[in-house]
Amino acid sequence: MTNDNSTPSRRVAVVGAGITGPVLSLCLARLGFEVDLYEAYVRRAQDVGSFVNLAPNGRAVLERLGLADRILEQGRAASSVDFANHRGRELARNPESTTNIMRGELSGALREAATGDGVKLHTAKRLVALDESGDGHWRLGFEDGAHAEADIVLGCDGVNSATRRLLLPDAPRPTYTGVVGSGGRSEIGAAELPVDGRFHMVFGLRGFFGYQVVSPGVVWWFENHQETRERTFAELAEIDDARWAAALADRHRPDPAVIRRVLNAATGPVGRWPVHEVPPLDTWHRGDAAVLGDAAHAVAPHLGAGAALGMEDAYELALALHRHPTAPQAFTAFEESRRGRVAAMAKQARQTGAVMTPDRWIARAVRDLMLPMAIKQGVRKGTEAYSYRPSPWPVQVG
Ligand SMILES: Cc1cc2nc3c(=O)[nH]c(=O)nc-3n(C[C@H](O)[C@H](O)[C@H](O)COP(=O)(O)OP(=O)(O)OC[C@H]3O[C@@H](n4cnc5c(N)ncnc54)[C@H](O)[C@@H]3O)c2cc1C
Repeated sequence: MTNDNSTPSRRVAVVGAGITGPVLSLCLARLGFEVDLYEAYVRRAQDVGSFVNLAPNGRAVLERLGLADRILEQGRAASSVDFANHRGRELARNPESTTNIMRGELSGALREAATGDGVKLHTAKRLVALDESGDGHWRLGFEDGAHAEADIVLGCDGVNSATRRLLLPDAPRPTYTGVVGSGGRSEIGAAELPVDGRFHMVFGLRGFFGYQVVSPGVVWWFENHQETRERTFAELAEIDDARWAAALADRHRPDPAVIRRVLNAATGPVGRWPVHEVPPLDTWHRGDAAVLGDAAHAVAPHLGAGAALGMEDAYELALALHRHPTAPQAFTAFEESRRGRVAAMAKQARQTGAVMTPDRWIARAVRDLMLPMAIKQGVRKGTEAYSYRPSPWPVQVG
Protein backbone atom coordinates (compact mmCIF):
# COMPACT_ATOMS: atom_id res chain seq x y z
CA MET A 1 0.00 0.00 0.00
CA THR A 2 1.36 3.41 -0.85
CA ASN A 3 0.56 7.04 -1.43
CA ASP A 4 3.61 7.76 -3.55
CA ASN A 5 3.12 5.16 -6.29
CA SER A 6 6.09 3.05 -5.15
CA THR A 7 5.49 -0.71 -5.37
CA PRO A 8 3.21 -1.87 -2.57
CA SER A 9 4.16 -5.11 -0.92
CA ARG A 10 1.11 -6.00 1.10
CA ARG A 11 -0.74 -9.24 0.66
CA VAL A 12 -4.51 -8.99 0.55
CA ALA A 13 -7.00 -11.79 1.12
CA VAL A 14 -10.39 -11.07 -0.44
CA VAL A 15 -13.16 -13.36 0.82
CA GLY A 16 -16.05 -14.01 -1.59
CA ALA A 17 -15.95 -14.05 -5.40
CA GLY A 18 -19.52 -12.97 -6.15
CA ILE A 19 -19.59 -9.50 -7.67
CA THR A 20 -17.84 -7.10 -5.27
CA GLY A 21 -14.94 -9.50 -4.58
CA PRO A 22 -13.67 -10.01 -8.15
CA VAL A 23 -13.96 -6.29 -8.99
CA LEU A 24 -12.08 -5.35 -5.82
CA SER A 25 -9.42 -8.01 -6.42
CA LEU A 26 -8.87 -6.86 -9.97
CA CYS A 27 -8.55 -3.19 -8.92
CA LEU A 28 -6.07 -4.06 -6.17
CA ALA A 29 -4.00 -6.31 -8.44
CA ARG A 30 -3.77 -3.48 -10.96
CA LEU A 31 -2.56 -1.20 -8.16
CA GLY A 32 0.25 -3.62 -7.37
CA PHE A 33 -1.19 -5.55 -4.42
CA GLU A 34 -0.71 -9.29 -4.17
CA VAL A 35 -4.26 -10.65 -4.09
CA ASP A 36 -5.69 -14.04 -3.11
CA LEU A 37 -9.44 -14.39 -3.71
CA TYR A 38 -11.19 -17.10 -1.67
CA GLU A 39 -14.61 -18.41 -2.68
CA ALA A 40 -16.74 -20.94 -0.80
CA TYR A 41 -18.34 -22.53 -3.85
CA VAL A 42 -17.33 -23.60 -7.32
CA ARG A 43 -20.87 -22.71 -8.40
CA ARG A 44 -23.58 -21.41 -6.06
CA ALA A 45 -27.07 -22.89 -5.95
CA GLN A 46 -28.43 -19.34 -5.50
CA ASP A 47 -27.08 -18.37 -8.94
CA VAL A 48 -29.33 -20.84 -10.71
CA GLY A 49 -31.75 -19.21 -13.11
CA SER A 50 -31.42 -15.73 -11.67
CA PHE A 51 -30.23 -12.58 -13.34
CA VAL A 52 -29.32 -9.15 -12.06
CA ASN A 53 -30.09 -5.86 -13.62
CA LEU A 54 -26.84 -3.95 -13.98
CA ALA A 55 -27.61 -0.29 -13.44
CA PRO A 56 -25.70 2.53 -15.23
CA ASN A 57 -23.53 3.23 -12.15
CA GLY A 58 -22.26 -0.38 -12.21
CA ARG A 59 -21.67 -0.19 -15.94
CA ALA A 60 -19.69 3.02 -15.38
CA VAL A 61 -17.30 1.15 -13.08
CA LEU A 62 -16.82 -1.59 -15.68
CA GLU A 63 -16.23 1.03 -18.37
CA ARG A 64 -13.64 2.81 -16.25
CA LEU A 65 -11.83 -0.51 -15.79
CA GLY A 66 -12.02 -1.29 -19.52
CA LEU A 67 -14.18 -4.35 -18.82
CA ALA A 68 -17.56 -3.18 -20.08
CA ASP A 69 -17.48 -4.80 -23.53
CA ARG A 70 -16.40 -8.25 -22.42
CA ILE A 71 -18.68 -8.37 -19.36
CA LEU A 72 -21.75 -6.79 -20.93
CA GLU A 73 -21.63 -9.04 -23.95
CA GLN A 74 -22.81 -11.77 -21.55
CA GLY A 75 -25.96 -9.72 -20.86
CA ARG A 76 -29.02 -8.39 -22.65
CA ALA A 77 -29.46 -4.65 -22.99
CA ALA A 78 -32.83 -2.94 -22.67
CA SER A 79 -33.44 0.59 -23.92
CA SER A 80 -36.12 1.36 -21.32
CA VAL A 81 -37.87 0.08 -18.23
CA ASP A 82 -41.65 0.01 -18.73
CA PHE A 83 -44.10 -0.10 -15.81
CA ALA A 84 -47.69 -1.39 -15.83
CA ASN A 85 -50.24 -2.08 -13.09
CA HIS A 86 -52.15 -5.30 -12.41
CA ARG A 87 -54.82 -4.33 -14.91
CA GLY A 88 -52.16 -4.11 -17.62
CA ARG A 89 -52.44 -0.33 -17.80
CA GLU A 90 -49.14 1.22 -18.89
CA LEU A 91 -48.08 3.65 -16.18
CA ALA A 92 -44.70 4.98 -17.19
CA ARG A 93 -41.56 4.40 -19.19
CA ASN A 94 -38.09 5.10 -17.82
CA PRO A 95 -35.85 5.70 -20.84
CA GLU A 96 -32.73 4.80 -18.79
CA SER A 97 -30.90 1.99 -20.63
CA THR A 98 -30.10 -1.05 -18.55
CA THR A 99 -28.54 -4.53 -18.90
CA ASN A 100 -29.77 -7.82 -17.51
CA ILE A 101 -27.16 -10.47 -17.00
CA MET A 102 -27.27 -13.95 -15.49
CA ARG A 103 -25.65 -13.81 -12.07
CA GLY A 104 -23.36 -16.78 -12.76
CA GLU A 105 -22.23 -15.29 -16.09
CA LEU A 106 -21.49 -11.93 -14.47
CA SER A 107 -19.56 -13.43 -11.60
CA GLY A 108 -17.72 -15.85 -13.92
CA ALA A 109 -16.67 -13.11 -16.33
CA LEU A 110 -15.49 -10.90 -13.46
CA ARG A 111 -13.49 -13.77 -11.93
CA GLU A 112 -11.87 -14.43 -15.31
CA ALA A 113 -10.95 -10.75 -15.68
CA ALA A 114 -9.46 -10.72 -12.17
CA THR A 115 -7.35 -13.84 -12.69
CA GLY A 116 -6.23 -12.37 -16.03
CA ASP A 117 -4.82 -9.46 -14.02
CA GLY A 118 -2.86 -11.73 -11.69
CA VAL A 119 -5.37 -12.45 -8.90
CA LYS A 120 -5.06 -15.97 -7.47
CA LEU A 121 -8.54 -17.48 -7.20
CA HIS A 122 -9.12 -20.34 -4.74
CA THR A 123 -12.55 -21.98 -5.02
CA ALA A 124 -14.14 -24.40 -2.53
CA LYS A 125 -12.53 -22.33 0.26
CA ARG A 126 -15.17 -21.35 2.84
CA LEU A 127 -13.85 -19.01 5.51
CA VAL A 128 -14.64 -20.28 9.01
CA ALA A 129 -11.95 -18.64 11.18
CA LEU A 130 -10.12 -15.33 11.22
CA ASP A 131 -7.46 -14.47 13.79
CA GLU A 132 -4.93 -11.71 14.23
CA SER A 133 -1.57 -13.44 14.60
CA GLY A 134 -0.09 -10.59 16.67
CA ASP A 135 2.65 -9.60 14.23
CA GLY A 136 0.34 -7.56 12.01
CA HIS A 137 -0.83 -10.56 9.98
CA TRP A 138 -4.20 -12.24 9.71
CA ARG A 139 -4.60 -15.98 9.74
CA LEU A 140 -7.58 -17.29 7.77
CA GLY A 141 -9.01 -20.75 8.40
CA PHE A 142 -11.14 -22.60 5.87
CA GLU A 143 -13.76 -25.30 6.24
CA ASP A 144 -11.52 -27.90 4.55
CA GLY A 145 -8.84 -27.39 7.21
CA ALA A 146 -6.56 -25.24 5.03
CA HIS A 147 -5.03 -21.97 6.32
CA ALA A 148 -3.71 -18.81 4.71
CA GLU A 149 -2.07 -15.59 5.85
CA ALA A 150 -2.56 -12.01 4.73
CA ASP A 151 -1.75 -8.44 5.79
CA ILE A 152 -5.19 -7.12 4.87
CA VAL A 153 -8.48 -9.06 4.84
CA LEU A 154 -11.46 -7.77 2.88
CA GLY A 155 -14.81 -9.53 3.32
CA CYS A 156 -17.00 -9.47 0.21
CA ASP A 157 -18.88 -12.59 1.27
CA GLY A 158 -22.40 -11.28 0.96
CA VAL A 159 -25.37 -10.76 3.23
CA ASN A 160 -24.56 -13.72 5.53
CA SER A 161 -20.88 -12.75 5.67
CA ALA A 162 -18.66 -14.96 7.82
CA THR A 163 -16.00 -12.22 7.70
CA ARG A 164 -18.44 -9.78 9.30
CA ARG A 165 -19.40 -12.30 11.99
CA LEU A 166 -15.76 -13.09 12.82
CA LEU A 167 -14.44 -9.55 12.59
CA LEU A 168 -17.33 -7.64 14.15
CA PRO A 169 -19.03 -10.15 16.47
CA ASP A 170 -21.32 -7.47 17.94
CA ALA A 171 -22.62 -6.36 14.55
CA PRO A 172 -26.38 -6.82 14.12
CA ARG A 173 -27.50 -9.95 12.26
CA PRO A 174 -29.21 -9.67 8.85
CA THR A 175 -32.97 -9.29 9.06
CA TYR A 176 -35.62 -10.85 6.87
CA THR A 177 -37.32 -8.22 4.68
CA GLY A 178 -40.56 -10.21 4.40
CA VAL A 179 -39.88 -10.69 0.69
CA VAL A 180 -39.23 -13.89 -1.26
CA GLY A 181 -37.50 -13.42 -4.62
CA SER A 182 -37.51 -15.81 -7.57
CA GLY A 183 -35.90 -15.80 -10.99
CA GLY A 184 -35.91 -18.00 -14.06
CA ARG A 185 -35.98 -18.50 -17.78
CA SER A 186 -38.94 -19.49 -19.96
CA GLU A 187 -39.36 -20.68 -23.52
CA ILE A 188 -42.49 -19.65 -25.37
CA GLY A 189 -43.50 -19.43 -29.02
CA ALA A 190 -41.30 -16.91 -30.84
CA ALA A 191 -44.37 -15.16 -32.29
CA GLU A 192 -46.10 -14.74 -28.91
CA LEU A 193 -43.96 -11.95 -27.48
CA PRO A 194 -41.72 -9.66 -29.52
CA VAL A 195 -38.07 -9.05 -28.70
CA ASP A 196 -38.76 -5.38 -28.02
CA GLY A 197 -35.60 -4.39 -26.16
CA ARG A 198 -37.63 -3.40 -23.07
CA PHE A 199 -37.51 -4.49 -19.47
CA HIS A 200 -41.16 -4.87 -18.42
CA MET A 201 -42.23 -4.43 -14.81
CA VAL A 202 -45.73 -5.23 -13.59
CA PHE A 203 -47.12 -4.19 -10.21
CA GLY A 204 -49.22 -7.33 -9.70
CA LEU A 205 -51.91 -7.44 -7.06
CA ARG A 206 -50.00 -9.97 -4.91
CA GLY A 207 -46.48 -9.77 -6.29
CA PHE A 208 -44.13 -7.77 -8.49
CA PHE A 209 -43.11 -9.32 -11.79
CA GLY A 210 -40.39 -8.29 -14.26
CA TYR A 211 -39.44 -9.80 -17.60
CA GLN A 212 -37.44 -9.23 -20.73
CA VAL A 213 -37.75 -11.16 -23.99
CA VAL A 214 -34.04 -11.67 -24.57
CA SER A 215 -34.20 -13.55 -27.89
CA PRO A 216 -37.04 -14.96 -30.03
CA GLY A 217 -39.08 -17.19 -27.71
CA VAL A 218 -36.78 -16.82 -24.69
CA VAL A 219 -37.85 -14.80 -21.64
CA TRP A 220 -35.87 -13.96 -18.49
CA TRP A 221 -38.06 -13.10 -15.53
CA PHE A 222 -38.05 -12.36 -11.82
CA GLU A 223 -40.76 -12.19 -9.19
CA ASN A 224 -40.89 -10.69 -5.67
CA HIS A 225 -43.73 -11.16 -3.22
CA GLN A 226 -44.41 -10.76 0.48
CA GLU A 227 -44.37 -13.77 2.82
CA THR A 228 -44.72 -12.95 6.49
CA ARG A 229 -43.36 -16.27 7.77
CA GLU A 230 -39.69 -16.61 6.95
CA ARG A 231 -38.74 -19.76 5.08
CA THR A 232 -35.06 -20.67 4.87
CA PHE A 233 -33.20 -21.00 1.59
CA ALA A 234 -33.00 -24.77 2.15
CA GLU A 235 -36.74 -24.98 2.83
CA LEU A 236 -37.53 -23.13 -0.40
CA ALA A 237 -35.03 -25.22 -2.36
CA GLU A 238 -36.86 -28.42 -1.41
CA ILE A 239 -39.88 -27.40 -3.48
CA ASP A 240 -39.96 -28.82 -6.98
CA ASP A 241 -39.20 -26.17 -9.68
CA ALA A 242 -42.39 -26.81 -11.65
CA ARG A 243 -44.51 -26.63 -8.47
CA TRP A 244 -42.89 -23.36 -7.45
CA ALA A 245 -43.46 -21.79 -10.89
CA ALA A 246 -47.08 -23.02 -10.86
CA ALA A 247 -47.63 -21.49 -7.40
CA LEU A 248 -46.25 -18.17 -8.66
CA ALA A 249 -48.54 -18.37 -11.70
CA ASP A 250 -51.48 -18.91 -9.35
CA ARG A 251 -50.41 -15.93 -7.22
CA HIS A 252 -50.50 -13.79 -10.38
CA ARG A 253 -53.96 -14.97 -11.48
CA PRO A 254 -55.50 -11.45 -11.09
CA ASP A 255 -52.71 -9.89 -13.20
CA PRO A 256 -52.06 -9.59 -16.98
CA ALA A 257 -52.17 -13.03 -18.63
CA VAL A 258 -48.63 -12.65 -19.98
CA ILE A 259 -47.24 -13.30 -16.48
CA ARG A 260 -48.96 -16.68 -16.17
CA ARG A 261 -47.96 -17.53 -19.73
CA VAL A 262 -44.30 -16.86 -18.92
CA LEU A 263 -44.37 -18.66 -15.56
CA ASN A 264 -46.12 -21.72 -16.98
CA ALA A 265 -43.40 -21.97 -19.64
CA ALA A 266 -40.51 -21.92 -17.15
CA THR A 267 -37.74 -24.28 -18.23
CA GLY A 268 -34.76 -25.42 -16.21
CA PRO A 269 -34.02 -24.47 -12.64
CA VAL A 270 -36.00 -21.70 -10.97
CA GLY A 271 -34.04 -19.70 -8.41
CA ARG A 272 -35.76 -18.59 -5.17
CA TRP A 273 -34.55 -17.15 -1.91
CA PRO A 274 -35.69 -15.30 1.22
CA VAL A 275 -34.44 -11.71 1.01
CA HIS A 276 -32.43 -10.26 3.90
CA GLU A 277 -30.91 -6.88 4.56
CA VAL A 278 -28.03 -5.88 6.81
CA PRO A 279 -29.01 -3.21 9.36
CA PRO A 280 -26.60 -0.25 9.52
CA LEU A 281 -23.32 -1.32 11.18
CA ASP A 282 -21.45 1.00 13.58
CA THR A 283 -18.27 0.33 11.64
CA TRP A 284 -17.24 -1.68 8.59
CA HIS A 285 -13.70 -2.40 9.78
CA ARG A 286 -11.41 -3.53 12.59
CA GLY A 287 -7.66 -3.09 12.32
CA ASP A 288 -6.44 -4.11 8.87
CA ALA A 289 -9.65 -5.92 7.93
CA ALA A 290 -12.97 -4.66 6.59
CA VAL A 291 -16.22 -5.70 4.98
CA LEU A 292 -17.83 -4.18 1.90
CA GLY A 293 -20.60 -4.81 -0.64
CA ASP A 294 -23.56 -6.80 0.68
CA ALA A 295 -21.44 -7.97 3.64
CA ALA A 296 -21.45 -4.38 4.93
CA HIS A 297 -24.79 -3.06 3.76
CA ALA A 298 -27.10 -5.43 1.85
CA VAL A 299 -30.15 -3.35 0.94
CA ALA A 300 -33.63 -4.53 -0.09
CA PRO A 301 -33.52 -5.45 -3.79
CA HIS A 302 -36.33 -3.17 -4.98
CA LEU A 303 -34.02 -0.74 -6.80
CA GLY A 304 -32.04 -3.49 -8.53
CA ALA A 305 -28.88 -1.70 -7.47
CA GLY A 306 -26.98 -3.87 -4.96
CA ALA A 307 -24.56 -5.32 -7.49
CA ALA A 308 -23.72 -1.88 -8.84
CA LEU A 309 -23.32 -0.57 -5.30
CA GLY A 310 -20.84 -3.38 -4.60
CA MET A 311 -18.86 -2.42 -7.71
CA GLU A 312 -18.79 1.20 -6.54
CA ASP A 313 -17.51 0.03 -3.14
CA ALA A 314 -14.81 -2.10 -4.75
CA TYR A 315 -13.53 0.73 -6.90
CA GLU A 316 -13.56 3.28 -4.08
CA LEU A 317 -11.95 1.01 -1.49
CA ALA A 318 -9.13 0.02 -3.85
CA LEU A 319 -8.39 3.69 -4.51
CA ALA A 320 -8.50 4.46 -0.78
CA LEU A 321 -6.00 1.67 -0.05
CA HIS A 322 -3.78 3.04 -2.80
CA ARG A 323 -3.93 6.62 -1.52
CA HIS A 324 -3.67 6.19 2.25
CA PRO A 325 -0.53 5.10 4.08
CA THR A 326 -2.30 2.58 6.35
CA ALA A 327 -5.28 0.29 5.88
CA PRO A 328 -7.25 1.69 8.88
CA GLN A 329 -6.86 5.21 7.47
CA ALA A 330 -8.07 3.99 4.10
CA PHE A 331 -11.05 2.22 5.72
CA THR A 332 -12.01 5.33 7.71
CA ALA A 333 -11.89 7.54 4.61
CA PHE A 334 -13.82 4.92 2.63
CA GLU A 335 -16.57 4.66 5.24
CA GLU A 336 -16.88 8.43 5.51
CA SER A 337 -17.28 8.77 1.76
CA ARG A 338 -19.69 5.83 1.35
CA ARG A 339 -22.06 5.86 4.33
CA GLY A 340 -24.29 8.68 3.03
CA ARG A 341 -24.65 7.07 -0.38
CA VAL A 342 -25.46 3.65 1.05
CA ALA A 343 -28.00 5.06 3.54
CA ALA A 344 -29.73 7.00 0.75
CA MET A 345 -29.95 3.86 -1.41
CA ALA A 346 -31.29 1.77 1.49
CA LYS A 347 -33.97 4.38 2.18
CA GLN A 348 -34.96 4.65 -1.48
CA ALA A 349 -35.10 0.85 -1.79
CA ARG A 350 -37.39 0.58 1.23
CA GLN A 351 -39.65 3.38 -0.07
CA THR A 352 -39.86 1.67 -3.46
CA GLY A 353 -40.65 -1.67 -1.78
CA ALA A 354 -43.45 -0.10 0.25
CA VAL A 355 -45.40 0.98 -2.84
CA MET A 356 -44.90 -2.16 -4.90
CA THR A 357 -47.85 -4.29 -3.90
CA PRO A 358 -49.93 -2.42 -1.31
CA ASP A 359 -53.08 -4.16 -0.05
CA ARG A 360 -55.28 -1.07 -0.14
CA TRP A 361 -56.70 0.08 -3.48
CA ILE A 362 -56.24 3.72 -2.53
CA ALA A 363 -52.51 3.21 -2.05
CA ARG A 364 -52.34 1.50 -5.46
CA ALA A 365 -54.24 4.38 -7.06
CA VAL A 366 -51.85 6.93 -5.54
CA ARG A 367 -48.86 4.87 -6.71
CA ASP A 368 -50.25 4.67 -10.26
CA LEU A 369 -50.87 8.41 -10.26
CA MET A 370 -47.51 9.39 -8.84
CA LEU A 371 -45.24 6.98 -10.73
CA PRO A 372 -45.15 8.83 -14.09
CA MET A 373 -44.31 12.07 -12.29
CA ALA A 374 -41.69 10.40 -10.07
CA ILE A 375 -40.01 8.85 -13.09
CA LYS A 376 -40.07 12.11 -15.08
CA GLN A 377 -38.59 13.91 -12.09
CA GLY A 378 -36.00 11.15 -11.61
CA VAL A 379 -34.99 11.30 -15.26
CA ARG A 380 -34.66 15.08 -15.04
CA LYS A 381 -32.50 14.80 -11.93
CA GLY A 382 -30.31 12.19 -13.60
CA THR A 383 -31.83 9.36 -11.52
CA GLU A 384 -30.00 9.90 -8.26
CA ALA A 385 -29.64 6.19 -7.48
CA TYR A 386 -27.66 5.57 -10.65
CA SER A 387 -25.74 8.84 -10.77
CA TYR A 388 -22.38 7.62 -9.34
CA ARG A 389 -19.48 7.88 -11.77
CA PRO A 390 -15.98 6.67 -10.78
CA SER A 391 -13.12 9.13 -10.62
CA PRO A 392 -10.26 8.59 -13.10
CA TRP A 393 -8.08 5.57 -12.50
CA PRO A 394 -4.73 6.60 -10.96
CA VAL A 395 -1.85 6.52 -13.42
CA GLN A 396 0.77 4.05 -12.24
CA VAL A 397 4.33 5.29 -12.43
CA GLY A 398 7.14 2.83 -13.05
C1 LIG B 1 -34.00 -11.19 -4.95
C2 LIG B 1 -32.82 -10.32 -5.25
C3 LIG B 1 -32.76 -9.66 -6.47
C4 LIG B 1 -31.70 -8.79 -6.73
N1 LIG B 1 -31.67 -8.15 -7.92
C5 LIG B 1 -30.66 -7.30 -8.17
C6 LIG B 1 -30.59 -6.61 -9.40
O1 LIG B 1 -31.43 -6.79 -10.30
N2 LIG B 1 -29.57 -5.74 -9.58
C7 LIG B 1 -28.62 -5.54 -8.63
O2 LIG B 1 -27.71 -4.71 -8.85
N3 LIG B 1 -28.65 -6.19 -7.46
C8 LIG B 1 -29.64 -7.05 -7.22
N4 LIG B 1 -29.66 -7.71 -6.04
C9 LIG B 1 -28.61 -7.46 -5.05
C10 LIG B 1 -27.33 -8.14 -5.48
O3 LIG B 1 -27.56 -9.51 -5.73
C11 LIG B 1 -26.29 -8.01 -4.39
O4 LIG B 1 -26.25 -6.68 -3.94
C12 LIG B 1 -24.92 -8.39 -4.93
O5 LIG B 1 -24.91 -9.75 -5.34
C13 LIG B 1 -23.85 -8.15 -3.87
O6 LIG B 1 -22.63 -8.62 -4.34
P1 LIG B 1 -21.54 -9.15 -3.32
O7 LIG B 1 -20.41 -9.62 -4.17
O8 LIG B 1 -21.29 -8.11 -2.30
O9 LIG B 1 -22.22 -10.38 -2.59
P2 LIG B 1 -22.66 -11.77 -3.25
O10 LIG B 1 -23.05 -11.59 -4.66
O11 LIG B 1 -23.63 -12.38 -2.32
O12 LIG B 1 -21.33 -12.62 -3.26
C14 LIG B 1 -20.78 -13.15 -2.05
C15 LIG B 1 -19.83 -14.26 -2.42
O13 LIG B 1 -19.18 -14.73 -1.23
C16 LIG B 1 -19.19 -16.14 -1.20
N5 LIG B 1 -19.13 -16.56 0.21
C17 LIG B 1 -20.11 -16.52 1.13
N6 LIG B 1 -19.66 -16.96 2.32
C18 LIG B 1 -18.36 -17.28 2.15
C19 LIG B 1 -17.34 -17.77 3.01
N7 LIG B 1 -17.58 -18.03 4.31
N8 LIG B 1 -16.10 -17.99 2.50
C20 LIG B 1 -15.83 -17.73 1.20
N9 LIG B 1 -16.77 -17.25 0.32
C21 LIG B 1 -18.01 -17.02 0.80
C22 LIG B 1 -20.50 -16.50 -1.88
O14 LIG B 1 -20.49 -17.83 -2.35
C23 LIG B 1 -20.53 -15.47 -3.01
O15 LIG B 1 -19.87 -15.90 -4.16
C24 LIG B 1 -30.69 -8.60 -5.75
C25 LIG B 1 -30.73 -9.30 -4.55
C26 LIG B 1 -31.78 -10.15 -4.30
C27 LIG B 1 -31.82 -10.87 -2.99
